[in-house]
Amino acid sequence: MKKIKLGVSTCLLGENVRYDGGHKLDRFLTDTLGQYVQYVPVCPEVECGLGVPRESMHLEGDPDSPRLVTTRTKHDMTDPMVRWARKRVIDLEKEDLCGFIFKSDSPSSGMERVKVYNEKGMPVKKGIGMFARIFMEHFPLLPVEDEGRLHDPKLRENFIERIFTLKRWRGVLEKKENRGNIVDFHTKHKLLIFSHSPGHYQMMGKLVGQAKDLPLKEFYWQYQTWLMESVKLKATPKKNANVLQHMMGYFKEQLSSDEKQELLETIDHYLKEYIPLIVPMTLINHYVRKYDQPYLKQQVYLNPHPLELQLRNHV
Ligand code: SF4
Repeated sequence: MKKIKLGVSTCLLGENVRYDGGHKLDRFLTDTLGQYVQYVPVCPEVECGLGVPRESMHLEGDPDSPRLVTTRTKHDMTDPMVRWARKRVIDLEKEDLCGFIFKSDSPSSGMERVKVYNEKGMPVKKGIGMFARIFMEHFPLLPVEDEGRLHDPKLRENFIERIFTLKRWRGVLEKKENRGNIVDFHTKHKLLIFSHSPGHYQMMGKLVGQAKDLPLKEFYWQYQTWLMESVKLKATPKKNANVLQHMMGYFKEQLSSDEKQELLETIDHYLKEYIPLIVPMTLINHYVRKYDQPYLKQQVYLNPHPLELQLRNHV
């Protein structure tokens, strides 16, 4: 797989672009995720023409539609920022991004809970950074996160699973359009989708079953929308335990009663959050390999992202 292209707030890569001339280097992004990802850096404040260093800014007014204003001189930067951002997102269409990692709390780049000040100078944490808002409206299906939230192992695992899923889906889009390619993709992703959303799993199964009756463009569009919606929903221990028990059913004939008992106990311990997901997954992977189970061995759910990222060791 080629490297995944991700947009990123430039300061997170260690570039000195912040208002105070500093940066916000995030080592996980550069050293760990960076092995699999090609970053497309975006610094809204520098790219819309402001220098480094510069006066700091914040959001003011209505949290749903705030103004971007410099904190000391009260210069209103909203219009130049919006004009620049609208053009920038069109440019970014060419990049084939699979997601974006924003700098948290920034009035330009923060994706949620950014401070917005009222006329008395009191902040409420209800805003979205100017560029982040325009980006998310322009690319509603793209996975987005901020570096702060990515410190949470569950949010991190979910985000990375989503960007890898989208990258594999883009591989389907690169091929000649035909229904068979989606059916093949869907077959491999069934259990992954099920682990996030049994509801989407059912809807998407029906959609794939009716593929012949739908115009091809509509089929692609609907499948992609539901795919990205489904993987955005969290795969909880309960949902994962369901999938693991379902997989266990494929070994009814081969496993001894002791082995079944051991697997059931491991799933139960995972469900109670005594052990991480990697433990039952390793056991299931072992049986899939040992018995060469043809349906399960093609399931992306078994290995949705590189093991080296250790994402299932912490969820
Ligand atoms: S938070 Fe955004 S605007 Fe601020 S320095 Fe980082 S990339 Fe630039």
